[in-house]
Amino acid sequence: MITRRTLLELAALGAAGVAAEAAEPPFSLPKLPYAYDALEPYIDAQTMQIHHDKHHQAYVDNLNKAVASEPSLAGVSVEDLLRRLDTLPPAVRNAIRNQGGGHANHSLFWVTLTPASKSGKASGQLAKALDQSFGGQDKFVEKLQAAALAQFGSGWAWLSLDGQNNLVLDSAPNQDSPLTAKRQPIFGVDVWEHAYYLKYQNRRADYLKAIVNVINWDYVSQRYSELAR
Ligand code: MN
Repeated sequence: MITRRTLLELAALGAAGVAAEAAEPPFSLPKLPYAYDALEPYIDAQTMQIHHDKHHQAYVDNLNKAVASEPSLAGVSVEDLLRRLDTLPPAVRNAIRNQGGGHANHSLFWVTLTPASKSGKASGQLAKALDQSFGGQDKFVEKLQAAALAQFGSGWAWLSLDGQNNLVLDSAPNQDSPLTAKRQPIFGVDVWEHAYYLKYQNRRADYLKAIVNVINWDYVSQRYSELAR
């Protein structure tokens, strides 16, 4: 016989089951490590707010939708999804390339920027590697700006490490991640118009002159040392 107590227990179990189904999706928007206006006057607060809260959030939401449709991908990090892109089910491959790339690229982007007063200089192994590969930090920055300027349409300029730990500077369209090309991204410069249009309109070169004032060289130097080990 089903007692009132059993019914209550079953109801509680049902509620727990519903709660489990409504569990947090696997990917979430990371908080900005500084205020929206922290990169002023180089990157304006409104651009930062829309870029982070709207554009990055949309990549996260759409990535969650894509992985929810493919149970075999549960628990896989976004980095591993991008590394394994070629082996993913065709039905979700393009969504993960674009939305997963968007999530990973922007998650790195925010932490590689910092207020201009804290931007600093490349140090340690990265300073040496920039000397050897590009003739120093200033020359590197010029080449980075040139690569970013030359990227036709939306995309990123990337400093990354190849499989032999060589520094590679190039650009890639859309949200394509260096991880898919078997490289480790050190940092990237977003040249989608959403990254600069409110303040710089069509003047991508002005945006590129500005953003190099807010590179977090301490973080980038540390990341290089860890990845090049
Ligand atoms: Mn962006």
